[in-house]
Amino acid sequence: MQKEEEKQKKHIAILGATGSIGTQALDVIAANPDKFVVEVLTSNTQADLLIEQAIRYKPNAVVIGDESLYKKISDALWEHDIKTYAGAAALEQVVEMEEIDMVLTALVGYAGLKPTLNAIAAKKAIALANKETLVVAGDLVTELAAKNRVPLLPVDSEHSAIFQCLAGEFHNPIEKIYLTASGGPFRGWDKTQLESVTRAQALKHPNWEMGAKITIDSATLMNKGLEVIEAKWLFQLKPEQIDVIVHPQSIIHSIVQFTDGSMKAQMGLPDMKLPIQYAMAYPQRIYADFPRFNFLDYPQLTFEKADTETFQNLNLAYEAMNRGGNAACILNAANEITNKAFLDEKIGFLDIARINADCMAKATFVKKPTLDDYIQSNTEARRIAEELINP
Ligand code: NAD
Ligand code: MG
Repeated sequence: MQKEEEKQKKHIAILGATGSIGTQALDVIAANPDKFVVEVLTSNTQADLLIEQAIRYKPNAVVIGDESLYKKISDALWEHDIKTYAGAAALEQVVEMEEIDMVLTALVGYAGLKPTLNAIAAKKAIALANKETLVVAGDLVTELAAKNRVPLLPVDSEHSAIFQCLAGEFHNPIEKIYLTASGGPFRGWDKTQLESVTRAQALKHPNWEMGAKITIDSATLMNKGLEVIEAKWLFQLKPEQIDVIVHPQSIIHSIVQFTDGSMKAQMGLPDMKLPIQYAMAYPQRIYADFPRFNFLDYPQLTFEKADTETFQNLNLAYEAMNRGGNAACILNAANEITNKAFLDEKIGFLDIARINADCMAKATFVKKPTLDDYIQSNTEARRIAEELINP
C-alpha cells in the first residue's frame, strides 16, 4: 500500500529518459520531489546513464531497448530492488503498470507509436514529446484518447504555447494558428550553399540544444512540417488554419488567432523545461527558477516568411496533410531514414528532401489506414528510402 503522501504525487513513466527531453524532465522532477515520483525509466542503448538515473530516482522498473544490454542493467540494479526489462515488447507493456499516472513520451521516432497507443488504452495521461507518433497515426491516437478520455498534453514548445493560449478558451473556435520557427542554422542560405553543408554545421542549432534527429529536422524544416501535422491532430484543425512564421529569436513560441481577430501568443526564453513542466503539472502552474525574459535584451523581435522553395520538406508536410490517409506516415518513415543517412554522411543535405519526395511518390497510398496499414506502410517507405539511398 502506498502512503497517503505518495498517492498525492503524480507517478510518471519517462520513455526515452536518457535523451534531451528525458534528462530535462528528470531535472524538473528533481526540483519538485513533493509533486512527482518516477515510476519507470527507459532508454534504447544508453545503459550507463540509465543505471545512474535509476539509482538516483529509484523507479519501480526500467527498460532498455537493446536486449544485448539487459545483463548489464539487471546486474547493476538487482540489489536496488528495481525491476529490469529489455526489448521493444517490454517497452510497449511497461506503460500499462497500475502505479503509473502519466507517460512522458520522450523517445524519438516511429518507435513511440505502439507504447503511446498502449498507454492511452491503459488510460494513462500522456505528456507528448514524441511528435512522430501523431504524424504517423494521428487519427488513431486522437480517436483512442477521446474515447478513453485521456488528455494528450503537448510538450513540444510550439504546441505547449498554443495549449497555454487556449486555457480558458477551449469553447471558443480557433480561426488559425501560427507556429513559429527559428529557421534553423541555414536560414537565408540558398541551394548552392546548402549542397555542401556538413553534418557538424547542421548539428549547430542557433537557439535550442536537442537530440541529433530533431536538430537535423530543424535544419531542413522537416521539424516544422512534422509540427504542422502534430498541430492538426492536437487541436483538430484544417491544413489551411495552420501557418508557419519564421521568428529567429525563438521568444514567441506560437500564436492563436480567434474568430474576433484577437491573437494570443505565449512567450519566454527558449527552455524546454518550461513546456515539459507545464505538461507534467497541468492543470497547475508550479514555481520554477528558470531565468526570466528581459525585454531590453531583445529590443527587436522579427518575423519573416519561411523559404519553402529552398527547404522543400515543409511543403512535403503540407502535401502529406492535404492527401491524408497514410501519406504523413510515409513521409515520416522516409525522413527517419534520410535523416539518419545524412547523419551517417551517406547523403547530402539537399538529398534529404529529394528522397523524401521520391519516396512519397513511390510508396503505396492507403486512404483509410488501419494500425496494420500504418505498420506496413512504415516498413515499405523505409525500404524504398533505403533503395533510393543505395540504388
Ligand atoms: P534524443 O535523441 O535526445 O533522445 C531520445 C531518447 O529515446 C533516448 O533516451 C533514447 O535512448 C530513446 N530512443 C531512441 N530510439 C529509441 C527506440 N527505437 N526505442 C526506444 N527508445 C528509443 O531525442 P530528444 O531530442 O529528447 O527528442 C525526443 C522526442 O521529443 C522526439 O520525438 C523529438 O521530436 C521531441 N522533441 C524534442 C525537443 C527537444 O528539445 N529535444 C523539443 C520538442 C520535441
Ligand atoms: Mg518544437
